[in-house]
Amino acid sequence: MNVYKVGGAVRDRLLGRPVTEVDWVVVGSTAEQMLALGFRPVGADFPVFLHPRTGEEYALARTERKSGRGYGGFVFHASPDVTLEEDLTRRDLTINAIAEDAEGRLIDPHGGQDDLRGRWLRHVSPAFAEDPLRVLRVARFAARYAPLGFRIADETLALMRRIADSGELEALTPERTWKEVSRALLEPRPDVFIETLRRCGALAAWLPEVDTLFDTARGERLLAVLRRCAEGEQPLTVRWACLLQALGEDDPVEGLRQVQAINLRGKVPRDCQELALLTVEFHSAGRRAQALEPTALLDLLQRFDIYRRPQRFAEFLAACALIADETQDVPAAIAYLRSAADAARAVQAQPLVARGFTGAALGEALREARLAALTRHRDEAAPRPSA
Ligand code: ATP
Ligand code: MG
Repeated sequence: MNVYKVGGAVRDRLLGRPVTEVDWVVVGSTAEQMLALGFRPVGADFPVFLHPRTGEEYALARTERKSGRGYGGFVFHASPDVTLEEDLTRRDLTINAIAEDAEGRLIDPHGGQDDLRGRWLRHVSPAFAEDPLRVLRVARFAARYAPLGFRIADETLALMRRIADSGELEALTPERTWKEVSRALLEPRPDVFIETLRRCGALAAWLPEVDTLFDTARGERLLAVLRRCAEGEQPLTVRWACLLQALGEDDPVEGLRQVQAINLRGKVPRDCQELALLTVEFHSAGRRAQALEPTALLDLLQRFDIYRRPQRFAEFLAACALIADETQDVPAAIAYLRSAADAARAVQAQPLVARGFTGAALGEALREARLAALTRHRDEAAPRPSA
């Protein structure tokens, strides 16, 4: 049996980038042999194994064939007679289809090194169309490598467009889609991810609500916001909220409904769901925080549960700052919200308990005390709104 390094590790070493995980392909072996060598199977019926010591992934060389719609309808064939070249041909991009043997020699039947030098993301073969996830993967690699000058080959973009038009993207499971989307949004150019999906028609299939934003100047603004998210190294929650925030601009109720629907059908993780919903609902109120009555401001802070979820509120403030355009003094509004939250948090329940308040009466007394604190905060901030 022969073992080769493949995929991202070879690609990133050739690009001079740090290699974080190594994938291996094993030619001329069987599952039984791998198990006998102490490798642990990754799944019951998938020919991928974990090295007993390093934990790195070793996949038996395989070919794949599509047998139906979506990923469920995929059959693969792994056997000792599948060659390295056959395995490389089932891979998505030429730059991901380079193998390296134990002596460091490269096996590169699809011109991956040329495309690394030329900065091309190019599909390996027409079999690319068999897994629609590859559309998202290519857009993700475009988002990652755009700073290095990579772009998508015309023929690959044309194929991505055909896949999107075929309706196959709808057959992807939400889990597989989110895995790509979440990684892509965290890349250095999440705007390139969205722009690529839009150019090939995949955004219309996956997020039609966001796609229509590009009928107006909002689309371009959204891309700029995503770019600033990456420049500020924002977490996924903030990036997801920023992707969806423009939906509520004209009609907040409809926007909220759309975000809810997107979150549910995408099985989006709870923290991302919550921040997106709260941001759509409250970012415009947040931007005029100084004009809010203490009762309205307290309602906003309560909705964020700032006492138990300080991090989430901080992320909301970050999203507000990113969404803002130059016409508004948003930094002042954000500073105001931050100090108002501190003022509300500083109100202690203990003295009220000591005075004998319990149950609903304690809740009411706490609310009054917080309102008083917010009123004081407003009056103190009034002479210096930019403090
Ligand atoms: P990353 O740096 O994101 O891990 P990677 O290229 O290593 O990038 P993996 O998802 O770890 O990506 O996959 C390893 C390799 O397996 C890829 O380089 C590619 O050759 C192949 N591969 C993975 N998923 C697919 C897919 N859906 N279709 C075709 N080939 C794939
Ligand atoms: Mg990898």
